[in-house]
Amino acid sequence: LFDFKIILGKNGVPVAENFRLEQSTIADTIHAGQVRVRTLYLSVDPYMRCRMNEDTGSDYLLPWQLSEVADGGGIGVVEESKHDNLAKGDFVTSFTWPWQTVAILDGSSLQKLVPQLVNGRLSYFLGAAGITGLTALLGIKEKGHVAKGANQTMVVSGAAGACGSLAGQIGRLEGCSRVVGIAGTDEKCSILVQEMGFDAAINYKKGNVAEQLRELCPGGVDVYFDNVGGDISDTVISQMNQNSHIILCGQISQYNKDVPYPPPLPPDIEKIQKERNITRERFLVLNYMDKQEASILQLCQWIQEGKLKVRETMVEGLANIGAAFQSMMNGGNIGKQIVSVSK
Ligand code: NAP
Repeated sequence: LFDFKIILGKNGVPVAENFRLEQSTIADTIHAGQVRVRTLYLSVDPYMRCRMNEDTGSDYLLPWQLSEVADGGGIGVVEESKHDNLAKGDFVTSFTWPWQTVAILDGSSLQKLVPQLVNGRLSYFLGAAGITGLTALLGIKEKGHVAKGANQTMVVSGAAGACGSLAGQIGRLEGCSRVVGIAGTDEKCSILVQEMGFDAAINYKKGNVAEQLRELCPGGVDVYFDNVGGDISDTVISQMNQNSHIILCGQISQYNKDVPYPPPLPPDIEKIQKERNITRERFLVLNYMDKQEASILQLCQWIQEGKLKVRETMVEGLANIGAAFQSMMNGGNIGKQIVSVSK
């Protein structure tokens, strides 16, 4: 048996060359409790940037080790099983899937997947029906204070990405009356409006974001789903209303910088936040895993009903996972960035 490993190179701004593809052998027998799986899909995510540092900056993330196989969210099919609850042909997932084409895994570390829940689109379990969807839904529910009939305006940054594209749609489903996205290309902005039901979208790389935001959110901003931090967020926060809420999902514009998480706001913006009583609490989806099952069912129902539109950017081949990660960090994706490893 052969497998391919991606092995980390040096630290710094992430580039495809940080990863190395190697061919090696794995055992040809498995022990009691183990399964041999073939990898179907792997996820690349912004948090992996933190795992490339010796100190990840958080206690729940372990750094990847040089010359060790990287890991993350993955989906595969069981090819051989010596685990009581798993059989050949079962589809399974894990948050710590090794970046290999085949692997021998502990069966108890895997969750079984039901493809019918996502109309057979298994990769959705790494996105809209997985951690990404949970992050959007639970972020809004736990930190957004969204209420039906309250006539709230929501702004989403990183709006055409995996979390952002879902967050805007879920904000609407949960009751926001106006949803405005901020994203990095005109194509992304038009998809947000035409496909995802956003009322408007701003290309932050063009024109004056503050001016456009003022025009598009005449009543101010009540809920801000923040994926990016930095200048974009400072601009949005400046236009937030009294007693409004920031959903502090992520701060991707700061991930290559040596700053604490969450990064502190500049003094003038922090003054606005305090004076207007704007909440900005840390949000980590992993702290709400007791709500995982019910929330995934809700997301799957919305997907099946066509209420949640899902976009993926699919790259083929394990050899391209480093490039896919780099591309996602630089805005090359629309919706969830996925690597398809085998069919
Ligand atoms: P994603 O949005 O699909 O991909 C990242 C996107 O970030 C890129 O497509 C790019 O789009 C944008 N971006 C990159 N650099 C930027 C910059 N300097 N300024 C503005 N935008 C930039 O990734 P995701 O997986 O959905 O993650 C989105 C955020 O959620 C990340 O901050 C991530 O850390 C966070 N997250 C948090 C949790 C949690 O539990 N709190 C869980 C999952 C994810 P553009 O073309 O628009 O620039």
